[in-house]
Amino acid sequence: MCSRDKSIPERGPTLVRPNPQSDDSRTCGVPGCEICELKKPFVFPKEILEAAENRKLVIFAGAGVSTEARGVFNLTLYEDTRRELKIGSRKKISFSALMSLYCRRKTRRMLLHKIKNRFDYMKKFPEIYKHATRFHRELSTIPCIQEIVTTNWDDHFECECDATPIVTPDDFAAFSDIPGRKVFKIHGSVTNYGSIVATAEDYQACYRRLRTGVIGSVLKVLLSSKTVVFVGYSFQDEDFERVYRLLNREVRGLLPSSYIVILDEDAKATLASVGINIKPIITDATFFLATLKAQLVKKKLMLPDERYNGLEKAYERVFEAQNNIFRIDPRRHPENIYSLVYQDGLMHGLEDVIGSRKSGRFSDGHMLMLMHMIQSYEFLRKRYLHAGNYWEVAYIEGFRNGLLYFLSSDKKTPKLPLYYLFGCGDITNLRDYRKLAKRARNLHKSAYSFVSRLAASRIHTKGVSFHHAPFL
Ligand SMILES: [Zn+2]
Repeated sequence: MCSRDKSIPERGPTLVRPNPQSDDSRTCGVPGCEICELKKPFVFPKEILEAAENRKLVIFAGAGVSTEARGVFNLTLYEDTRRELKIGSRKKISFSALMSLYCRRKTRRMLLHKIKNRFDYMKKFPEIYKHATRFHRELSTIPCIQEIVTTNWDDHFECECDATPIVTPDDFAAFSDIPGRKVFKIHGSVTNYGSIVATAEDYQACYRRLRTGVIGSVLKVLLSSKTVVFVGYSFQDEDFERVYRLLNREVRGLLPSSYIVILDEDAKATLASVGINIKPIITDATFFLATLKAQLVKKKLMLPDERYNGLEKAYERVFEAQNNIFRIDPRRHPENIYSLVYQDGLMHGLEDVIGSRKSGRFSDGHMLMLMHMIQSYEFLRKRYLHAGNYWEVAYIEGFRNGLLYFLSSDKKTPKLPLYYLFGCGDITNLRDYRKLAKRARNLHKSAYSFVSRLAASRIHTKGVSFHHAPFL
């Protein structure tokens, strides 16, 4: 057991437990809520909104929006390491110098174990994990943010925002030109402990690479042509100053308007005193993103996150409806096979939307991706119908209806067709379906004949039925 360093304050009890699920665009109204008291009102810079509209907004993220955010752990990694090494409160030591000292007194292997234990611990407790990923979850659905640079080691941008990590020049060669969100991890990644930049020696090597290597060159182009918003950094954070000064020097002062979202009320004076030409926005970083999101929704540049509400519930309803159909022997009622395959398509369509939430690709206000998909499915549906392949037609209609359900803004009175028969309109409940199914043979003779042949030739045992895998 290490002795307690009195210089590091113990965190007191939380009077009001923060609710990490709460809507970050407004305050929850609970007096003393630790999260909402950070949501300081601010004037949203027009320039940032324009940059977002033109997909020229880059987020540069530090540890303050992740594992080292207030309230995630009792002690930050820096505080915890100081305590373990019994370093007194008067001694000033930078983060990287502290990590070097740790490696000298112990070993680098032990440092990496310490970092790993911290991440493992966080992932074990959903409350901690949710708190550490609050910023990432808010960012995830914003389709205009496609480029992120971070000094963080964690994989939160990968897991929560569907970003492809670029850590090494090989990653860059493999993934730089594929579409989709990317995160440049200039201090390495927890998914590859060998890449972690922690000690003073690591920092030197890292900044040498950034000055001369391919990733550094890309960053310079990115940062000299786009609007950069730094989040999760404090002025005590050596990462911020080093990175900012290096990049500013390398692009010869060409960094266009840069901003820093920070809670320090004296930020403007502090920045001026150290000669950093960057505009402060005094508020909480997640609140800043939520405000950006609200503006983008207002301008119809993205769909509100509420569109995703109710999708899991809808999925459960389809699942139950499919169970109703599964109980009926398809050899006696082959028309039911169409409902089964339609329901497979419907569930897969909903799964596609739910699974894509993190990438923000369906949140685009112009709905380009969705409309393109819906049109291509319509084209395919016609082709299969023409070829008399009714099995695929039912599946495609289900998939398409799953996508269309996401687009419907009113999910309180949802009209989700749950069953399917050829020759009928939408069927939303079992009672109507049963009535209509009695006439299936005459509603669409060729579709009925197709599925009767299918059932007779393939199903020889009671209790088995057909399933469509999730692809076309
Ligand atoms: Zn609150």
